[in-house]
Amino acid sequence: MPGPRDDCLFCTLVRDGDHVHAADGFVAIADINPQAPVHLLVLPERHVDTFRDVDDFPADEVKRMLEFVAATAARAGLTDYRVVVNVGPGGGQTVFHLHWHILGGRTMGETL
Ligand code: AMP
Ligand code: ZN
Repeated sequence: MPGPRDDCLFCTLVRDGDHVHAADGFVAIADINPQAPVHLLVLPERHVDTFRDVDDFPADEVKRMLEFVAATAARAGLTDYRVVVNVGPGGGQTVFHLHWHILGGRTMGETL
């Protein structure tokens, strides 16, 4: 696996952050600017710039990443929630280390 990037905020948080859940190459942290009562971010340890490059992950790691997202939401007490990945600047991505937003704790509207 390529090593962490010193210039990457989320590589730093994977290493040194306050993890609400960690297992198997993935960590979850609280978003610093929550958009819902529960707003967590799932970060893979592996640095991949964007979801566009998801094929850089071995297939079993992709499966485990999705299971980790579901497990993180369940551990946070959520049954109903929203999972979001912003892809590229035009998709709202501001940190270029792949991450999954888990948003819950309120009724999510029909629109994004
Ligand atoms: P995105 O805009 O999809 O790239 O998401 C980046 C997210 O990272 C935003 O929701 C930010 O609020 C969040 N964020 C930025 N810096 C930190 C930090 N130091 N700790 C936790 N979350 C952060
Ligand atoms: Zn990174």
